[in-house]
Amino acid sequence: MTTEKLLGHTRLFLMQGDITRQNVDAIVNAANSSLMGGGGVDGAIHRAGGPTILEECKQIRAMHGQCAPGEAVITGGGNLNARFVIHTVGPIWHGGSTNENIILANAYRNSLDLALQYEVRTISFPSISTGAYGYPLEQAAEIALTTVIEFCQNIAEQQLLDEVRFILFDQFTQSTYKAALQKLSNEDMP
Ligand code: ADP
Repeated sequence: MTTEKLLGHTRLFLMQGDITRQNVDAIVNAANSSLMGGGGVDGAIHRAGGPTILEECKQIRAMHGQCAPGEAVITGGGNLNARFVIHTVGPIWHGGSTNENIILANAYRNSLDLALQYEVRTISFPSISTGAYGYPLEQAAEIALTTVIEFCQNIAEQQLLDEVRFILFDQFTQSTYKAALQKLSNEDMP
């Protein structure tokens, strides 16, 4: 079941699904620094979106080099039902002592900043870093949600962003995000 919460002007959704099937202005890709595609959600986005996305990624690489963890770049959406794909690189989990939390928050924040620059009003995120990159799910969910909530509350008055959706691939990930949101709501928004 979808969970919904209003964050200022922005509606937050936690839902289970396949991000490549989302009909939104932008979907976010959990890419790697090479921007050359990979497994998991990255592979799924390139497969569904077609070759133009990789072509654009190659151009970005040629001009700016690799994408550092925590940073984000934008391409068109190719064959997807999204105008843009925002490619961000989450941290690889090394035990928690190499700024993984800061890098993960940066990945969400920089993706949202870029979205606003391109006048994106609806955006879908996957659970960044919790697959191949091994970030513990509960901790990642809390950082993801805290960062998005803070961002949306800060821009509430400008009414720039209508929807932020987390598209969570499996039921366990969705229920973990749901529990994290519940916990944050109890702490911060009594
Ligand atoms: P990372 O390398 O950042 O850990 P992964 O792609 O390995 O990225 O995993 C990130 C999350 O994306 C995992 O929860 C994984 O189950 C999920 N995922 C994989 N494919 C899809 C998809 N098509 N839609 C949404 N989420 C997906």
